[in-house]
Amino acid sequence: MYPCNRSRLQSLVERFSQFGATANGGVTRLSLSKEDILARDCFIEICKELGMDIQTDDMANIYATLPGKKDCPPIVIGSHLDSVEKGGRFDGVLGILTGIEAIRTLKDNDIELDIPLMLVNFTNEEGARFDPAMMSSGVIASKFSREKMLSSTDKNGITFQEALQASGYEGEQENRLTEALAYIELHIEQGPVLAAKQCDIGVVEGVLGMVCYEVTVTGESNHAGTTPMSMRKDPMIVASRLISSLHEQLSKIDEELVFTFGRMHVMPNIHTVIPNKVVFTIDSRHQSPEVMSQVEKVLTGVASEEDGCLIRPVKLWGRETVFFDEAICNEVEKSCADYGYSFHRMFSGAGHDAQYIASFIPSAMIFVPSIGGKSHCEEEETTFEDCAKGADVLLETVLALQTKLSMGDRYTLSQ
Ligand SMILES: [Zn+2]
Repeated sequence: MYPCNRSRLQSLVERFSQFGATANGGVTRLSLSKEDILARDCFIEICKELGMDIQTDDMANIYATLPGKKDCPPIVIGSHLDSVEKGGRFDGVLGILTGIEAIRTLKDNDIELDIPLMLVNFTNEEGARFDPAMMSSGVIASKFSREKMLSSTDKNGITFQEALQASGYEGEQENRLTEALAYIELHIEQGPVLAAKQCDIGVVEGVLGMVCYEVTVTGESNHAGTTPMSMRKDPMIVASRLISSLHEQLSKIDEELVFTFGRMHVMPNIHTVIPNKVVFTIDSRHQSPEVMSQVEKVLTGVASEEDGCLIRPVKLWGRETVFFDEAICNEVEKSCADYGYSFHRMFSGAGHDAQYIASFIPSAMIFVPSIGGKSHCEEEETTFEDCAKGADVLLETVLALQTKLSMGDRYTLSQ
């Protein structure tokens, strides 16, 4: 085993948290902003010092490859350098920096790999500047069309295409990641589970499937003072009863089901007017397709009319659960066991680049605990001890995969 250097990893995280540092200890490093460019430049500088080859593709994804003794597709470690506005110092960037630390540790120990090891920075994972999230892993996995993405516009009216061209990071389409033996993404959990279970590492088996519904309740506007209660068609009252009833029904389906009534619009939203329309959303997530279909049954089964108001549920979008590669998950688990780190098998409730990459490369993720479960905020925190444990497991997993995969020229894990 080759343990990583915790203090070196800590200084690296601290160095990167200067790019877009906010007053309260977080970062704002929107994709292709000048802060993101500084982080990219620094990433490349470090990778070059480590003897890695650099390429960029037409989505400005950066690929840094440490050559192996064999000329074969690489094992890939990936994540993202961009952040949300006033985000934390660990989300995304930790996956890249633990990758760098893993390579530095290989160099410390004079280990030459058989299979090339590639680090990838995916552009605009957060979707905080340009919609949608996981844009560039989505494009290379053929989930989104590049043409469409180019016209995605930030709040200042700058298109993704303009930002791409101005960044100096637009490369060739032929450089896109198309083939690799394995993909591993280390990430902070962004939730409270590992900390609550006092576990060092999350072995991530997949990304939860989800559906998002929008429910429109239509009533009738009228004067708040002159309309007797018995003569109203008030969608606010109907909507609030509906939310309570849905909450009760969905809670009974499965204890691991999560659901959120996150957005509500009241029209016309004036305190002296009975509303005529209330629109709210329900985001619901679970790994099992059967559970999700029960959820949809509840949502589509609501009464179409109540107290004179019309109720109409519409599915905005959904995604199926993504299952990661069992063999790689087992290697992650074994690496934890080798180090004596406690681990927990889990699904990710949040989206990650790995969920798209998994469609064409055997993939898995490693989670490290988030203190207080906080993320996408300046308070986001993970101890450097846990970061280093994550780096240890990451490197150990890469080495185990190297051994297994280099025994034959062909891919010999599951799939
Ligand atoms: Zn992230």
